[in-house]
Amino acid sequence: MKDVLKDFRDVSGEHLDRLTAKGVSRRNFLKFCTGMAIAMGLPAGMGSQIAEAVATQKRPPVLWLSAQECTGCTESLLRANHPTLEKLILELISLEYHETLLVGSGKQAEEWREKSMRENKGKYILVVDGSIPVKDNGIYCKIGGKTAMSLLVEMAADAAAVIAIGSCSSWGGVPSADPNPTGASPAHEVLKNKGIKTPVVNIPGCPPNPYNFLSTVLYFVTFKKLPELDEKSRPKFAYGRIIHENCERRPHFDAGRFALQFGDEGHRKGYCLYKLGCKGPETFANCPVQLFNDVGSGAWPVGTGHPCFGCTEKGVGFTVPLHSPARPKYITPPSLFTEVFPGKEGVSPGTKAMAAGVAGAAIGAAGAALVSGLGKKDDVTKDKGE
Ligand code: SF4
Repeated sequence: MKDVLKDFRDVSGEHLDRLTAKGVSRRNFLKFCTGMAIAMGLPAGMGSQIAEAVATQKRPPVLWLSAQECTGCTESLLRANHPTLEKLILELISLEYHETLLVGSGKQAEEWREKSMRENKGKYILVVDGSIPVKDNGIYCKIGGKTAMSLLVEMAADAAAVIAIGSCSSWGGVPSADPNPTGASPAHEVLKNKGIKTPVVNIPGCPPNPYNFLSTVLYFVTFKKLPELDEKSRPKFAYGRIIHENCERRPHFDAGRFALQFGDEGHRKGYCLYKLGCKGPETFANCPVQLFNDVGSGAWPVGTGHPCFGCTEKGVGFTVPLHSPARPKYITPPSLFTEVFPGKEGVSPGTKAMAAGVAGAAIGAAGAALVSGLGKKDDVTKDKGE
């Protein structure tokens, strides 16, 4: 621990000075970097390495291409509740081109994109949100007179890495739902078919969690490579476990206690949502531990009483009917989980222990608390009236 603290004392740099001048305290910055390290499953001591990289290196240039999308991915990144985080997001990367956020437009914007691509050739990160229509030579989505398909190929060819943010660019998302009239395709598939070899990492979600995006960028900046990916090119630190494993309602599932209708007694008591169509048992994501919007426990779909609809998983979200039962593929033995306390209502102490400590949930929860900068996460049981 002493070494970790010493490492943090050594962190300094022009970028850190700029952040502190803008009201981001050094303490919050270091907490943020430690939280990011923990959220990525790295030892807490790596936080100082991330902080050093962020404080001293040139901000990574990021060009953002939007195709068939709803702008939810951008909203998710910018609508963080905590002002410190909002500043950090915009200060950690150099956002060179983003159609929604650029002040300029039309010819001016396109010229700026081309200039930035030339000046940062081989160094910039290309972020893509939205699916790419490939039917009829891609005519269903055009930007500045070019198809999204040709822009993706052009911009990815000179990028250091491509981050496909959101379900649409990761696996097709809403626009690819049957009958997929535009031939909506994920970025990695289009690039593979065009022979572009730039590495692609997928951050699916509708919307995706902004911390998963930021963690990936910070990992790349610090270690000059992408984090370990699964077979669907998703970072393992965020998509390595199914939602069902870390869900606070899991003990109710194991005990056979289900909500059968919205608003019924089981629903009001916080029982498992499997019978309402929850796709948690077949969906990989860290939603139950990373949470959304920096507002503490329960801020994720199942936490608010709605079944998970499997947005991060190709073949589940926008494909399987919303309220049809999940098809559990990955059975995790009940012995891994704490028991539910019979007769107790709401989210049980067993649930609380699981959300806090079992199967790596603690890592994500601690990371979320640190990352949010709020300093304090609510007690899981408090919200349920226990
Ligand atoms: S609510 Fe969904 S994710 Fe949670 S235990 Fe039930 S089926 Fe699993």
